Amino acid sequence: MSHETLHFINGTWTANSSAEVLSVSSARTGRLLGWIPRGGHIEVDLAVAAARNAQEHWAGLPSAERAESLRRIAAGLRAREEDIVGLVAEEIGCVQSTARIMQVGAAAAVFDDAALQIEEALKERTLGNSRIIQQPLGVVAAITPWNFPLYQAALKVAPALAVGCTVVLKPSEVAPFTAAILAEVVSKADLPAGVFNLIHGTGIDVGEHLVSHPEIDAVTFTGSDVAGSRVAELAGRSIKPVTLELGGKNPHLILDCVNLEAAVAYSVASAFANNGQVCAALSRLIVPREYLPEVERLALAEVRKFAPGDPRDAQTRLGPLASEGQLNRLNDILARTIEEGTEILTGGLGRPGGLERELAGGFFATPTVFTNVAPGSVIDQEEAFGPVLAIVPYEGGADEGIRIANGTPYGLNAAVWSEDLDLANRAAARLHASTVYINGGNFNATAPFGGTKRSGFGRERGIAGLEEFIHTKSIQS
Ligand code: NAD
Repeated sequence: MSHETLHFINGTWTANSSAEVLSVSSARTGRLLGWIPRGGHIEVDLAVAAARNAQEHWAGLPSAERAESLRRIAAGLRAREEDIVGLVAEEIGCVQSTARIMQVGAAAAVFDDAALQIEEALKERTLGNSRIIQQPLGVVAAITPWNFPLYQAALKVAPALAVGCTVVLKPSEVAPFTAAILAEVVSKADLPAGVFNLIHGTGIDVGEHLVSHPEIDAVTFTGSDVAGSRVAELAGRSIKPVTLELGGKNPHLILDCVNLEAAVAYSVASAFANNGQVCAALSRLIVPREYLPEVERLALAEVRKFAPGDPRDAQTRLGPLASEGQLNRLNDILARTIEEGTEILTGGLGRPGGLERELAGGFFATPTVFTNVAPGSVIDQEEAFGPVLAIVPYEGGADEGIRIANGTPYGLNAAVWSEDLDLANRAAARLHASTVYINGGNFNATAPFGGTKRSGFGRERGIAGLEEFIHTKSIQS
């Protein structure tokens, strides 16, 4: 079945002003999955005007009404679980367990959570003779990537709507169809027309015009650092606040460990989650050199549990990459890593064997572990965005481990492992990242998340996510 969709502007499904379309490929098979309209300036102008017209009314509604709308969206997404799971298996090769947890459950939870946080985020305070109030920034441009297409959109749309902003969303052209499901859900959730708008198209045609638009008040972007830097440059010309959630090359630093099996399993699971296509993936395992032989043995055993297969099969733990472009990018990084002389523990370039015939054209990569990786080398520094783990040994104690962990241009996510919790907490404070996990700590969906250094700035999730879309006003009397 091929998918086709339209833009969603001012509460109405809207055809493109031209007949141009963009085709979308199935990650599983490489075959055509469907088409989206190739939007341009006309569509952006219409959507921004609709969002502008709706904004004051939306912000003026009692927050309980906005909260109810968000809860209806959350329920609507949950009701579409099977559609979403099926779509992301095709669009990006997402395996079922990840799809159910992240692409549906977490995405819906973001709307429920935003509804819960409205009162706190917009709370009025007094300071001497000042009344301190919080107001929505206005009309928001949201641009999202393909790796968690619905969750990333939710992380922007839900908090913006919660505080009274209206939104124009441009999803990735690589994985656009779950955003269309979001628009379908919104259209049935009784939101005023124009509060949520969706425009399909490329970053150049739609994204650049959107972030440059004089009627856009704020920009929130998730994607590569290259595109993020261009977005910030364009938004900066008209002094718009920007949130940038960019890439990562995230360390898992083992200081000392009595349960290496658990630590290595945690690392491999993180590096290979969503087929390695996670900005927060712990793709560098930094270990004391004396642990290296045991870490290698355990890593090999863990990787065997990630045999590539059909993401629609409930047992599969590793699917294909999202697109041919992504596979080419990964192969280029692998080739340069091998050329540098880095030791392969398992995997490497080339397609994995044993795949069914139907998947012959899919964008599959072989799960790969490099070992004895030198700090500063290609695979220690560059975001692979595929199922690749780099084991980096170090000597000389915690300070040296932390120095290596921090030795990339990025600062997104990190993990540390030590039996000494004080030591682990001191290391966590020194790691360049917005989120740090100690000894395999659990994911907290409402803890602030975002970048430092080249991973960007601004925070998403929980109340911090709502605060990105408000400005503070003091009124003196
Ligand atoms: P990308 O930068 O190619 O595209 C992201 C979005 O930006 C897409 O919608 C694209 O159309 C748009 N875009 C591209 N060029 C643009 C331009 N010049 N102006 C405006 N918009 C433009 O990224 P991708 O390949 O879709 O996603 C992968 C990247 O996203 C990885 O680097 C990954 O680390 C990062 N990412 C970061 C986070 C995070 O929260 N920090 C989460 C997921 C992905």
